[in-house]
Amino acid sequence: MTIERLDADVAVIGLGAMGAMSAWRLARAGARVLGFEQFGIAHDRGAAGGESRLFRMAYHEGPEYVPLLRRARELWLELAAVSGRDLFLPTGCLSIGLPDLPPMVNVRRSVTDHDLEHEVLAHDELATRYPQHRLHEGEIGILDVAGGMLRPELAVLAAAQQARAMGARLHEHTPVRAIEPGGAGVTVVTDEARYRVRRVVVTAGPWTGELVPDVAVTVKPIVLTWFAPQDLPAYAPGAFPAFIRDTDGVHLFGCPVLDGMSVKCGFADVWPPLPGPRELTRDLPGSALRPISDAVRRFLPGLHPEPIRHGVYMDGYTPDRTAVVGPLPDAPSVVVLAGFSGHGFKMAPVFGSIAADLALEGGTDFDVTRMSPSRFGAAA
Ligand SMILES: Cc1cc2nc3c(=O)[nH]c(=O)nc-3n(C[C@H](O)[C@H](O)[C@H](O)COP(=O)(O)OP(=O)(O)OC[C@H]3O[C@@H](n4cnc5c(N)ncnc54)[C@H](O)[C@@H]3O)c2cc1C
Repeated sequence: MTIERLDADVAVIGLGAMGAMSAWRLARAGARVLGFEQFGIAHDRGAAGGESRLFRMAYHEGPEYVPLLRRARELWLELAAVSGRDLFLPTGCLSIGLPDLPPMVNVRRSVTDHDLEHEVLAHDELATRYPQHRLHEGEIGILDVAGGMLRPELAVLAAAQQARAMGARLHEHTPVRAIEPGGAGVTVVTDEARYRVRRVVVTAGPWTGELVPDVAVTVKPIVLTWFAPQDLPAYAPGAFPAFIRDTDGVHLFGCPVLDGMSVKCGFADVWPPLPGPRELTRDLPGSALRPISDAVRRFLPGLHPEPIRHGVYMDGYTPDRTAVVGPLPDAPSVVVLAGFSGHGFKMAPVFGSIAADLALEGGTDFDVTRMSPSRFGAAA
């Protein structure tokens, strides 16, 4: 019997949020890792650009995410410590809305079911403590004390640097053209070479469908906008927690001042899908930004309502906004992580750990059955 010589144990394809974290956790587990990124590591053309990300434990999307979020927070702190990078700012995260709105009900269930440190701020108390927010009658706040902000580009860079320090070979500006499962492994095809590995982790974000057509996530843009406050200190990280708010069908999120001059705000889930990731338009006419300016005028009156800048990014979405995480049913040597649907960044390190466990051990202690690729009929 001939023993095939492999170039690595695992190849990670796409070194954005999930891929950089997967490479870090795989290298840390002692695996020989190859990584491929079509652009430079920590670029801003995919799902991980835009300077900041909210980290929330009190979860609008449902309390079932809390075990993942708890482990993710530990791993964020570990990555910050080993890299010496300030990539997590524990500002807390404030959820605002009427108490019986479904996202607020989920927030309350998350904190009570999982005993999370939090404060419920009744309407008047919220108005007094955080006058930066203009409230509607009856709205309350729930402050998720363990929440905060992440620095996405810095975090991706830190994870990739850690992976490299532990021996991972990460190729930048190297798009993968095909993955070919077969024999006892998988062949990874680039313009320059073909690599044989035991397992592949596909973390190609909005581009997933180009490599794995049966996991063709819907690509949606997400626009971020930055607004200048009149009173700068009132919006500093110590005074103004990250926030997420649902009022009158407007879903607004934002972060305190990080760049020394502006508050980041965005809308979720309002941007129409694109035909594909290569059709992203990064310049928008002023008229496209009017709804967010209107929301800022209504809800954050201390900010000048004309944005000083904006950025257009994108993420891959699934129909149920639940990610696809697991081996392909017909090609178990290919593990796919995709479709994080606008809320995956905060969980990237725990999904990196899960990818490492799936690729190296064939299983994970986390319950990811609801994320199975087979639920959309995905096959190799
Ligand atoms: C503007 C915006 C705001 C967001 N806000 C939040 C938030 O506040 N909190 C939160 O938790 N989540 C948030 N999210 C969601 C989160 O950022 C994403 O879910 C997450 O980044 C998805 O990670 P990913 O690894 O799947 O994709 P990406 O980070 O885009 O990584 C995919 C990588 O694969 C590379 N690639 C693709 N194809 C190939 C190929 N063939 N060969 C080589 N490389 C390839 C790409 O270049 C890219 O680097 C937000 C998303 C956006 C866009």
